[in-house]
Amino acid sequence: MEKAPPRTAGDVLARSRDFLSAKAIDGSRLEAELLVAHSLGLDRLGLFMALDRPVVPEEIDRARELVVRRSKGEPTAYLLGYREFYGRKFTVTPDVLIPRPETELLVDLARAYCAARESEAGARIVDFGAGSGCIGLTLALEVEDARVLAIEKSPAAAEVARANATKLEVPKERYGVQVGDGFQVLSTKEGVDLLVCNPPYIDRLKPTGLAEDVKQHEPALALFGPDGDPDWFARTLFQGRTRYLLPGGRAFVELGFDQAERLAQVIDGADAQIHKDLAGIPRVLEFGR
Ligand code: GLN
Repeated sequence: MEKAPPRTAGDVLARSRDFLSAKAIDGSRLEAELLVAHSLGLDRLGLFMALDRPVVPEEIDRARELVVRRSKGEPTAYLLGYREFYGRKFTVTPDVLIPRPETELLVDLARAYCAARESEAGARIVDFGAGSGCIGLTLALEVEDARVLAIEKSPAAAEVARANATKLEVPKERYGVQVGDGFQVLSTKEGVDLLVCNPPYIDRLKPTGLAEDVKQHEPALALFGPDGDPDWFARTLFQGRTRYLLPGGRAFVELGFDQAERLAQVIDGADAQIHKDLAGIPRVLEFGR
């Protein structure tokens, strides 16, 4: 027999939670809360305050659609249209990588470098491969007098970064997005103080541990390095360091879980180090000139 339709926000939430947990969706409780809240035009806290609120059929349909799509693998961030990063909401679409919490470590390191810089002038920063813009925009907002150029190969992703700049009210003179190949753009400049990059570093031929949802839904351009050479971006940036960085400049490049050992040989003897994230995974390569 068909179950009676849910009558309150709390009913919709309970059903959604049960459905997602039956489909073995990781974090089904939180995901259900986010999706149901969104369907009712509320945030999570608002939902908890309104569990007794009656729901209309359109709201039930909206919640059901989102929960079913989630159960089939669509990431919650794309369904909601945003993801939080460093305490701010970034618009995300399937054209951009979903910002990850581990990338906040890269931002912390970059901020610490900027704070320790001995220069009157604001840091000139390049965000190589901007995606949603999460790294460069956060730095534009967190670092006094920073001037950030975000470079992005995908025109559709660049639009998302621009939209985020507008939404977060980042002044135009502090943040710009250029569509193009990062190496080409860098080669036209005399160097930068700070280079930040979360490059595509998954090997498409050996995608160990890559979740199916990620592979199916996030942009390949943002995920996969050149076939058979997932270290290519990190290595090429490192090898070009004297060209890309100004004297005193530094670069912070995100790494995948298995890259550190291979890169250790490449950076041996240079002014470089690898930082671990909270999970103990070597996550960020830092280097100077
Ligand atoms: N810079 C963006 C991020 O960190 C996009 C990175 C990418 O697309 N590889 O989320």
